[in-house]
Amino acid sequence: MSIHDDPMIANDPVTGMLQRPPVGGPQDVFYQRAYATHFPTIVRGEGIYLWDDRGARYIDAIAGVMVSNLGQGNARVADAMARQAKELTFTYVRYARHRPNIELSRKVSALAGPGYERCFFVSGGSEANDMALKFLRQYAYAKGQREKTHIISLLPSYHGSTLGTIALSGNEDLEPLYGPMVQFSTKIPAPYSYRLAPGQTAEDAAMATVRALEEAILRIGPERALAFILEPIGGVATGAVTPPPAYFREIRRICSQYGVYIIFDEVITALRSGRFLAAHYWADAQPDLVVLAKGLGAGYAPLGAVLAPATMVDPLADEAGFNVSHTYSANPVACAGGIAVLDETIERDLIGNAERTGAYLQARLEELKDRSPIVGDVRGRGMLCAVELVADQATKRAFPSEVYVTNRLRVVGLRHGLILYARRQSGGKYGEWSMITPPLIITREQVDELVERFERALNELTEELHAEGMC
Ligand code: PLP
Repeated sequence: MSIHDDPMIANDPVTGMLQRPPVGGPQDVFYQRAYATHFPTIVRGEGIYLWDDRGARYIDAIAGVMVSNLGQGNARVADAMARQAKELTFTYVRYARHRPNIELSRKVSALAGPGYERCFFVSGGSEANDMALKFLRQYAYAKGQREKTHIISLLPSYHGSTLGTIALSGNEDLEPLYGPMVQFSTKIPAPYSYRLAPGQTAEDAAMATVRALEEAILRIGPERALAFILEPIGGVATGAVTPPPAYFREIRRICSQYGVYIIFDEVITALRSGRFLAAHYWADAQPDLVVLAKGLGAGYAPLGAVLAPATMVDPLADEAGFNVSHTYSANPVACAGGIAVLDETIERDLIGNAERTGAYLQARLEELKDRSPIVGDVRGRGMLCAVELVADQATKRAFPSEVYVTNRLRVVGLRHGLILYARRQSGGKYGEWSMITPPLIITREQVDELVERFERALNELTEELHAEGMC
């Protein structure tokens, strides 16, 4: 019996909404019903493909959620984790050491390069960003900079979903909800490259946001400004916007001038942008801390990390110490998974593939701008692309918020064998984009298959929208 035929777990055939079981149910029982529709029940995966319980095959065009860099079912990683689970399942980092932790730190630090000699492992991106903030606070406090508590981040941005990282994330919808509970960071505009003021270049726009950074530091007071956190290449919140090199040079200059630490949130970009760290594209940025997650465990292990220089970690450990941990910090099985993921990634040159095949993907998506009236912009770097959808290419007008056009593309995409990601921030105020971020193992032939399916889905959606008078 198909799971969809199971009266306990079925989608309504007309609305595509989950027919709620009286008890339990999948995680989407919590999500907004109007949009959490037509979810397939995935029962199997192999490489970049997923199969549902009815035998339909999908290309995972988003690698889960920018996670499954090695695709599904990598035997080397699965075996390494199973071996570790049998040999040594768990010890607690505050009272014992284990080899997978030591080996994973060594590998990550070697790949990250000078300035990142120490790695603090946790279970995901939100935890890692939280840790980075706590580390900087403790470091500043230990240095006698006790007033330094204020964080600056971008609007829009996304840094996670714990209360601490919600406060960092630039999403206007969340401020009324959680603002009374946590201290929101100061937001400055994210650099944008698509909807610019008349006569403005992307570089001008980026430089305007640099000025906003300096103004924010002066407003807060340098003695109170602790850190500036940003994704070097926009992730889901801006749809893969890549600022110009001058942006990175300038934010480093300003932050060094006022003693503000820089955190690069590389939860999405690490391994995926075509370099181990996106920070490696801009040597003069040299963020003080770098945060990794998603691709580090590649879906096999819940794993995140904060990379920091020994020159900060060691003196702090000599004095107050960074005495924070979670039960699952540097978990042996997760670390063993991380080691195998990195070995696979390096031996198969998947970071190189992200750069080369990612450029090919980007070029193929770019062609769609000429053939599809609803493709407004194609952006990205490496295997991290975003396709912005518009009602009018000439004016860049977005679709009305209630259409939630990228979610409609997600649903149509399923009919064409694609798992897609619908994204907008603050109700679509900044536009809407479909992230195209397949596993790093994807080949050029598979990119062709993905883009052909994507184009067919776009065409079908365009016809629907046209019939509704939306474009
Ligand atoms: N930072 C960025 C840039 C992200 O994209 C995400 C998740 O999508 C996070 C942090 C939060 O990571 P996690 O979901 O692993 O907590």
